[in-house]
Amino acid sequence: MERPPLRLDAAGEPLRLLHVHAHPDDESSKGAATTAKYVAEGVEVMVATCTGGERGDILNPAMDRPDILANIGEIRRAEMDKARSILGIEQVWLGFVDSGLPEGDPLPPLPAGCFALTDLDVEVGRLVEVIRSYRPQVMTTYDENGGYPHPDHIRCHQVSVAAYDAAADPDAYPEAGDPWQVSKLYYHFSFHRQRFAALNHAMIEAGLESPYAERLAKWEPDPAHEQRLTTRVPCADYFATRDRALLAHATQIDPEGPWFSVPLEIHQRGWPTEDYQLVRSEVVTELPEDDLFAGVAVTLDDVRAEAAEPANPSRVPT
Ligand SMILES: [Zn+2]
Repeated sequence: MERPPLRLDAAGEPLRLLHVHAHPDDESSKGAATTAKYVAEGVEVMVATCTGGERGDILNPAMDRPDILANIGEIRRAEMDKARSILGIEQVWLGFVDSGLPEGDPLPPLPAGCFALTDLDVEVGRLVEVIRSYRPQVMTTYDENGGYPHPDHIRCHQVSVAAYDAAADPDAYPEAGDPWQVSKLYYHFSFHRQRFAALNHAMIEAGLESPYAERLAKWEPDPAHEQRLTTRVPCADYFATRDRALLAHATQIDPEGPWFSVPLEIHQRGWPTEDYQLVRSEVVTELPEDDLFAGVAVTLDDVRAEAAEPANPSRVPT
């Protein structure tokens, strides 16, 4: 595959992307092909993982063993190490404790000391420190519903949005480093009807039984929701990398389960992008977009041309 020209921001800085996720494995199930694509293009990518995933259920029957359950924290760290090297990223733990997914009626209370119950200021401060030291131009997180209603995902949204603002504010968290303005903030936008309808169509066209038919039959079109889709990043060439990263989280994904029941080629043909909603932008960009760095990135050739023939003479070094 031919590598596209290296891109930088207008200040000549390398492009940096920060994904904020709730648990180890979320970086591989949401936006992982986008990550792999940008890494291949020379963009630096970091994942900040809010919790250690200590309360995640074991979702792979082959891994559901007492010895694994007893060491789940350690095992999930090792799984994350593997996924990190498959994706070619940097990763930091924010160090909070998984809240678990409460189940039952009435719902049981959240466990004391968990991420969803920790002081929001403390959590935001820790992410602000990461933002100010990593200095990403683009950041991603979940929408206000968490993408799905896990208390840690909703909390991850709250912490990320607050930290996006606070990182740029010189009066906020002065001990956490010099202010940094992230240029763009996105929400992952993966569960929408349009995508599942397209995948369903591709399955039927290939003469295969679609696992989406039942869900789609009950899923009313929701134009207001679909309108949130602003940005589709073409990354089908990296779906296989995404799948490998996901399988590295062996306790969390069943290789025989529904995720892998749809062939890779169907995913690539049916819906070849990962999707996002742009929610904040400090740069000028035109919607819809196909690049998280639209309005931020310039190519090295642009930088050289600018240096040879400056558009703005006041910027010539004297
Ligand atoms: Zn999660």
